[in-house]
Amino acid sequence: MTVSVAEQNQMGWQFDNTYSRLPEVLFASAKPAAVAAPRVVILNHRLADDLGLQLEGMSPEAAASLFAGQDLPVGSLPIAQAYAGHQYGNFTMLGDGRAILLGEHRTPSGQLVDIQFKGSGPTRFSRRGDGRAALGPMLREYIISEAMFALGIPTTRSLAVVTTGEPVMRETRRQGAVLTRVAASHIRVGTFEYVAGRGDEANLRLLADYTINRHYPNLPDSPNRYLEFFRAVMDRQAALVARWQLVGFIHGVMNTDNMAISGETIDYGPCAFMNAYSPTTVFSSIDHAGRYAYGNQPAIVQWNLTRFAETLIPLLDPDQEKAIAIATDALNQYPALFQQYWLTGMRAKLGLQSVEAGDFELAQSLLTWMQKAKADFTNTFRDLSADEPLSKALYQEAEFQAWHSQWQLRLNQESRPTTAVHAAMRGVNPAVIPRNHRVEEALAAAENNNDLSVLERLLAVLAKPFEAGTDSAIYREPPTDECDYRTFCGT
Ligand code: AMP
Ligand code: MG
Repeated sequence: MTVSVAEQNQMGWQFDNTYSRLPEVLFASAKPAAVAAPRVVILNHRLADDLGLQLEGMSPEAAASLFAGQDLPVGSLPIAQAYAGHQYGNFTMLGDGRAILLGEHRTPSGQLVDIQFKGSGPTRFSRRGDGRAALGPMLREYIISEAMFALGIPTTRSLAVVTTGEPVMRETRRQGAVLTRVAASHIRVGTFEYVAGRGDEANLRLLADYTINRHYPNLPDSPNRYLEFFRAVMDRQAALVARWQLVGFIHGVMNTDNMAISGETIDYGPCAFMNAYSPTTVFSSIDHAGRYAYGNQPAIVQWNLTRFAETLIPLLDPDQEKAIAIATDALNQYPALFQQYWLTGMRAKLGLQSVEAGDFELAQSLLTWMQKAKADFTNTFRDLSADEPLSKALYQEAEFQAWHSQWQLRLNQESRPTTAVHAAMRGVNPAVIPRNHRVEEALAAAENNNDLSVLERLLAVLAKPFEAGTDSAIYREPPTDECDYRTFCGT
């Protein structure tokens, strides 16, 4: 089944190909591979509407063909992007090995977004990989990215998942699939590392100007425009990782190639949400040293920003020593910046409106107790937001009771009625997160039995994470035992 040009025009694609107009060192042309028997697994109709795309009129066959890359949207110009990156601390040349960028689509609100296929076959950057993706990991990205969006956290989105009708060989034989990803852009810290690594100052400046124009068009007028750019990226990254910490999201593989300059969460691989609070929580099967553990994430952002700042050195000052001093000075402001975002978010989670000196310690002592009590991170904050008394056994512990009295004293300094405090808290403390055992059960049903009903029920509750209706009750329960839970990159 092919999609005619007339049909495609009716769909509403408005492609521009701004990245393709950048110097050719930044990409390689690419072509999605032909596949045997594409079939739609899931389409994100709400996102399609926001993008100005009409999917309703399409037959399932035409949609499958489109999202498997068999019929390219009119105006698209497929490329694979070049980038480098520090993976677990080691520098490597990379590039889109299993992703193809179709170009940028202009939404009805005027926003320019990347439309990218993930798993659509090899590119010039595939190295030894097959360029393919398995259904489970693509659906995992769909679930978690859409959950993050509903939580209000900047993220790439998922428009469609289709199976290819071809197997991919991983630890076992799995169904091949293609995810259509929508992103503010796919420009990464690693993209800058790639250009800087070539010692290519002219193209570095071009890339920086392109990125500023696309993501930071309102930078303050300053003689040091690239320093302002760095500060703005740092600001968004500090805000982003604070949001992750405040919901217990663990990215799992915060390599510099998985950090987007736009400030969106990107590249959902072995990511997972924490249940019982512990800073040492790691789920990724390959993160043996815990480099990307929950509690390390804010510091890793600073490490990645340091790699980013290094790429900008030639643009910061002609005198290299001065440039390094400028970058170091900016980077030194990161810890306070992160702490400010985190504490502001923590105050909201605790229902506090004003700023008081002991607030950090108040939040920290709750976390200290949670870690000792192995309390569930999400449910503890949600329980604190309830109007009912805290009846669970763990809340009867003396240490918690002492903390609770302190918190009540602090709340009494503000004049909000308790019911209003609780209502505000329920607006920022999610009732539902994508719990690992619920995600796994949805993926298993989809992959092993072609049963999407479990996934669809999960997505429905994740779309309204702050509501605690009866339909979400089972999704709010932590797993009974999760000591051995491991996530995989799925590459
Ligand atoms: P990731 O950890 O998924 O962000 O991937 C790291 C790098 O490996 C990226 O440059 C990917 O394009 C590449 N890669 C991952 N899986 C494959 C695959 N199956 N085939 C080719 N390249 C891959
Ligand atoms: Mg990646």
